[in-house]
Amino acid sequence: MRHFAIVGSGPGGFYTAEALNKAYGDQARVDIIDRYPVPYGLVRFGVAPDHQSLKAVAKRYDKTVESPGVDFIGNVCVGSDVSVAELLTFYDAVVLAIGAPNDRKLGIPGEDLPGVVGSAAFVGWYNGHPEFADLGPLLDGSQAAVIGNGNVALDCARILSKTRDEFTGSDIVGHALDALDRSSIETVTILGRRGPLQISMTPKELGELGHLEAATPVVETSDFPPVAADDALEPGQRKSVTILRTFAGTGPDGAKQKRIVFDFFAKPLRIEGDGRAERIIVERTQLDDSGRATGTDEVYSVPASLVVTSIGYSTPPLEGIPYDDRGGKFLNEDGRIGDGLYCVGWARRGPSGTIGTNRPDGYEVAARIEAAMPPGSSSDRSGAQGLKALLQSRDVMPTDYDDWRKIEATETGRARAGSPREKFVRVQEWLQALGR
Ligand code: NAP
Repeated sequence: MRHFAIVGSGPGGFYTAEALNKAYGDQARVDIIDRYPVPYGLVRFGVAPDHQSLKAVAKRYDKTVESPGVDFIGNVCVGSDVSVAELLTFYDAVVLAIGAPNDRKLGIPGEDLPGVVGSAAFVGWYNGHPEFADLGPLLDGSQAAVIGNGNVALDCARILSKTRDEFTGSDIVGHALDALDRSSIETVTILGRRGPLQISMTPKELGELGHLEAATPVVETSDFPPVAADDALEPGQRKSVTILRTFAGTGPDGAKQKRIVFDFFAKPLRIEGDGRAERIIVERTQLDDSGRATGTDEVYSVPASLVVTSIGYSTPPLEGIPYDDRGGKFLNEDGRIGDGLYCVGWARRGPSGTIGTNRPDGYEVAARIEAAMPPGSSSDRSGAQGLKALLQSRDVMPTDYDDWRKIEATETGRARAGSPREKFVRVQEWLQALGR
């Protein structure tokens, strides 16, 4: 018998558990450990609440954890309740699948002013992440800005621009829905330090901006090179750029009062304001021969009383685990960190790719584990039994998959009309739903 611990119950963790379970069958027990009593990580806390079809992947993860040999151990924080070194004494292999939940910083003056929030915090707020339940983003001004040209920036701009009705069917948490409904924001400027051909936005997500009830995209034709330049792009990127060109060609829909303005070649220099964010001072850029943005000395101001920085994420370091500061992830060789210690997903590769990218990633790391300790081999590690005894001695009360199903039933039961669930947003509320 082998015992494997996977730390983190997002896509990377679940695909690795699925692969290990397939490879070892009843020759191994796989424990998926999460710091919260609820599973799914990024799928619950990161994927936009109005993208329910993407969130449906959790049903596949349920099948994995419902398989014999796989367990969910929630409410256990690796790093504080138990260390990785301790886990390695109970398990044959430990896989770190903790994602990249921390916002990268711009490193410019004014970034800490009230009114400036990172996208991890903002997304966490509208998705019911307990760390950000009290974020209270400032929605009282008419102008907001999102810094970054990736899909998360698009998510943030879209969520800020939707009407209450457009959230029907979503599982946006009630506190965010009410606050957004009262919001005065009419213009969201998306700042990109490079140009329209260098965006990291995918066609489906970009296309959605053309179908919003009250908001319309604003793109300047003059920002584009001649259309022949698109030939050099890979097909997906060409599609995205074509959508942007269409937005520019059609112009904004005058019947809609909200605007999502694409401001390209715009590098934020500092955020200014009297006690809170009021404006971003931006330098106009141009691309050098290698495609990097270089300043032109032309400086201007973009009014914004809410600034969402959306420039990528990093994995939090864990004591004793080698860390790649530049990449914001664990130092690893094809997913292997050291003896018995592996990482997958964003903790391995950095924050890129779709949910599906984590599947081959998880299978690859599972294959490395298989090669190191082939199915049929065994050890005298104690697995969950040893872990649970240690947790008990520390007064840590783990939760299991049945507990999650009870929480889920309570969240489903209190959903507002048309919504799949009303999430609890505090750890205490989850535990109360379990009668603890
Ligand atoms: P991302 O795709 O890496 O985009 C980050 C953006 O931030 C880039 O436009 C980058 O510009 C910009 N940036 C980085 N540093 C900057 C700086 N110092 N100043 C100004 N801009 C800066 O990251 P993401 O949007 O956080 O998304 C993470 C991953 O999740 C991506 O793979 C994304 O596709 C995925 N995702 C997918 C979906 C979906 O499928 N619906 C939704 C959300 C997220 P440069 O290009 O110039 O570096």
